[in-house]
Amino acid sequence: MAKSGVSVTAGAAGGPGFKKAAFPKTQTAKVRQARRINRALAEVYPYAHPELDFQNPFQLLVATVLSAQTTDLRVNQTTPALFAKYPTPTEMADANPEELEELIRPTGFFRNKAKSLLGLSAALRDEFGGEVPGRLEDLVTLPGVGRKTANVVLGNAFGVPGITVDTHFGRLAKRFGWTESDDPVKVEQEVGELVEKREWTMLSHRVVFHGRRICHARKPACGACPIARLCPSYGEGETDPVKAEKLLKYEKGGQPGQRLSPPADYPGEAAARAAAHGGPTADSAEGVDA
Ligand code: SF4
Repeated sequence: MAKSGVSVTAGAAGGPGFKKAAFPKTQTAKVRQARRINRALAEVYPYAHPELDFQNPFQLLVATVLSAQTTDLRVNQTTPALFAKYPTPTEMADANPEELEELIRPTGFFRNKAKSLLGLSAALRDEFGGEVPGRLEDLVTLPGVGRKTANVVLGNAFGVPGITVDTHFGRLAKRFGWTESDDPVKVEQEVGELVEKREWTMLSHRVVFHGRRICHARKPACGACPIARLCPSYGEGETDPVKAEKLLKYEKGGQPGQRLSPPADYPGEAAARAAAHGGPTADSAEGVDA
């Protein structure tokens, strides 16, 4: 273990004999490399999980809609009061729009998000018997629910394997050489051909964890990256180990995580302190979820 707590299982950057990996050229090479990266990320993030707090499919659906253009931590700070007031789709569908907007205001774009929550709650009440449906084709008919949100809900509330292509996943899939596309549907399809279906949901969490903590959009911490040996984009970011380690975020950088109620085996401090003081994870531009 390095000082930061980053596993070196998969081979840290630099060091004797370090050789930058090539981009995989054939489909067979891509499959092999993608599965190796997935296994390595599983070692680095054995506790990967959705970073939104939720107790049931409805809460996860609402939290995922709220997570657009803000951090999961911000959503986790907002949802306890929201779910206390509107615990079911029926209650949320009957909400006073202005009161609902006020409750979700901290997550940004609150007028549009309130409209989506009112619309999807009414649809759940009127068309799905007040339950969140467990099928992609039904979920995407709900207002404000696209493929990404549907896959989050299916994978984490229904156990249906799904690849969630958010901004982090899309960026890392390109850096790994799994796709050249910017189209989330195409990325989902291309990565789905590389990794076993049963791994899809966890792969999504692991890649997003890595993107948020180490392989950042603007300054990837290549010099502190535990999967550097497998990555054809090594060197896109800071390669100096000392400087790179300073870029690490959340539990890898010794800071609180994104959850107020993390699972028992979560290694970092819960985000309660950050929640109380508007800490570093709350407003980080690179922590913004898309
Ligand atoms: S680009 Fe850098 S930080 Fe990102 S996975 Fe590759 S080596 Fe790691």
